[in-house]
Amino acid sequence: MKTIVLVGGGHAHLAVLLDLASRPIPDTKVILITPEPFQWYSGMLPGLIAGQYQPDECQIDLRPLVVRAGITLVLAEVMGMDADQHCVCLRDGTRIDYDMLSLDVGSSTDTSWLTVGKHPIIPLKPIDNFVQQWNTFLSQTSNAPSRHIAVVGAGAAGVEVACAVYHALNQPTSKTTISLIGTSSGLLPGHGKNVIKRIQGIIDHCGIDFYPYQAVATEEGLLLSSGTLLTADCVIAATGGIAHDWLQLSHLSLDQSGFISVDSTHRSLSHRNVFAVGDVCSRQDRYIARSGVHAVHAGPILAHNLRAITQGYPLKPYDAKTRSLYLLSCGGRHGVMSWGKFSASGTWVWHWKNHIDKKFIKRFL
Ligand SMILES: Cc1cc2nc3c(=O)[nH]c(=O)nc-3n(C[C@H](O)[C@H](O)[C@H](O)COP(=O)(O)OP(=O)(O)OC[C@H]3O[C@@H](n4cnc5c(N)ncnc54)[C@H](O)[C@@H]3O)c2cc1C
Repeated sequence: MKTIVLVGGGHAHLAVLLDLASRPIPDTKVILITPEPFQWYSGMLPGLIAGQYQPDECQIDLRPLVVRAGITLVLAEVMGMDADQHCVCLRDGTRIDYDMLSLDVGSSTDTSWLTVGKHPIIPLKPIDNFVQQWNTFLSQTSNAPSRHIAVVGAGAAGVEVACAVYHALNQPTSKTTISLIGTSSGLLPGHGKNVIKRIQGIIDHCGIDFYPYQAVATEEGLLLSSGTLLTADCVIAATGGIAHDWLQLSHLSLDQSGFISVDSTHRSLSHRNVFAVGDVCSRQDRYIARSGVHAVHAGPILAHNLRAITQGYPLKPYDAKTRSLYLLSCGGRHGVMSWGKFSASGTWVWHWKNHIDKKFIKRFL
């Protein structure tokens, strides 16, 4: 009997659970280790903030999936691993040994430069914590005559969240100021000019102030590299993902930023019985952006490869498309499409995104 350990209930592992439910792997025990019984679907988080969805519409309950897959669920956080010894270690010190390991644990939010100030800083990830802290902030300030919210990070997630906050809090009874802070790379780095133009128009229309500067938290407030000091009641950190620090001692081969180096089949370059998929991995054969799209699309390939390596048949590569479709929700029922150089916007884009997101969640009900 072989043991496969899946760490993290991320997007790719959801596909593995569906695959196992349809067909178990003979003579193999599978264990899923993840801290929470629910997996948030990040694509719907802006809609949750904007008040368009209820929390249970944006979450996937892992427990029935695990039962259908006939595997064991361990609700715990992995705090360390030793790839040479083939084991992972949980927060309470329990050691779990594996023959094959698959990591789909996402990334953490980089808040290293935002830790000094006195304002509440709410990282977008982990999403559980974000939702809790955001609700606390909202209830504590519900009677405030005005609120200033700063969103640091002007990539897709930061833009969507800033627009969603505007949509949720822009009421005649309370004045809300929203600042969106990027870096000198500007709005939506990596997206086409037309998309950026459309988004700029939307944030101007919402009265969101955009600052293309680096921010650092000080005792007095958020100090921008332009010299401007912003005093916000709440700072949302939508700054890019960083690798989990426990990977540093794992003995796995990592890239310069600490993400797990994998080949085209998502197998670790250093330990051939370890796979890594989604935001935690770094493809060494080509660049693949860290996004939910790739974590989702690589899922069925991972499911195939875990089965193939156990049963001794060939592995498949994940051939990511060069251009991914991004549908950004912009607060109200308005969306912007970004696909390479092409862009479009309108209510129909929002409805398209809403349809895709709800269909994704429905696959796991
Ligand atoms: C607001 C927002 C909106 C976004 N919208 C989009 C979008 O529209 N399209 C898109 O492509 N991307 C989007 N993204 C990016 C997307 O969220 C990530 O790229 C995606 O979630 C990565 O998936 P993953 O499976 O790698 O990790 P995750 O979805 O982060 O899943 C990681 C899992 O691992 C678990 N885990 C973490 N640490 C441990 C540990 N130590 N031990 C055990 N388990 C652990 C977590 O609980 C979680 O279950 C958005 C991100 C944000 C923040």
